Amino acid sequence: MLMKVREKPIELQKLEALRGRMAFTSEQEHLYKSLLIGYRGECLNDGMADDMDEYVMRLHDLLLVSGGRTCQIDSLFISDGKVYLLEIKNWEGSFDIKDGDFIGLAACPLAQLKRSKLILENVVRSMGIELEVEARLVFMNPKIVVYGIQRDAPILFVHQIPEYYRDICWRGGWSQWDRRLAERLLKYHVAVNPYQKEVPYSRASVSSGMMCPDCRGKMMGFDLVKLYCSRCNFYELKKDGLVRAKAELDTLFGNSLYPQRDLYLWCEGLVSKRMIHTFITQRSSKF
Ligand SMILES: [Zn+2]
Repeated sequence: MLMKVREKPIELQKLEALRGRMAFTSEQEHLYKSLLIGYRGECLNDGMADDMDEYVMRLHDLLLVSGGRTCQIDSLFISDGKVYLLEIKNWEGSFDIKDGDFIGLAACPLAQLKRSKLILENVVRSMGIELEVEARLVFMNPKIVVYGIQRDAPILFVHQIPEYYRDICWRGGWSQWDRRLAERLLKYHVAVNPYQKEVPYSRASVSSGMMCPDCRGKMMGFDLVKLYCSRCNFYELKKDGLVRAKAELDTLFGNSLYPQRDLYLWCEGLVSKRMIHTFITQRSSKF
């Protein structure tokens, strides 16, 4: 049973909305790409676990705090009185492990996995429960090679996942006890990640306009109802572009006191005031 769905990280939503609207530093471009690749890997893994719901409680993107320490758990399964913690990476390339640690990286993912497991065990223990947590570092990208890996290392590659998931299902299904534990863990979830990397921007540093969903170039008006991107030849109905422009405005600057005026200015006059008025007033119904 899916107890907590994965949402696109707010940092990634903001970077997507900022792309094309401000010049990214190489660090911001790297952050955007790594968040996007990581999120795609997590979604891919979610898809592989979709048919396990009869057997496991699934919680995605759980942020737990214990003893002042925070850990983000990409995926957590509970089944038959056992907890499975998955740290999901979508890395590509060659990596080396020496003495049980990844070398040459700012942070060893195996050390992070161990830390997350400890924090989770502490949280569960604080509920008065002793149970086994099985932690796995999961690599979703088939284009990865890890040298020096020990046979008993808690690592799974993408081709090993179906069998691992099948084994979890075969061991038994979820019980009401598992469900209660999932509900209690959800109560420990904190919404704001203190390690979130904020990209500085302001209304003055962000350019307005309706951006192409493909290349993030500025779109132009084509006719009364369509927009056009000259960079990649993409055509779109104005009302579809308006939905996206409004979502980006909200993501970057929150809800406005003057939504119609702000959205008109944000769209740089590409959409009529009348269409914006209809959109704002009928958003929930038939626009
Ligand atoms: Zn385009």
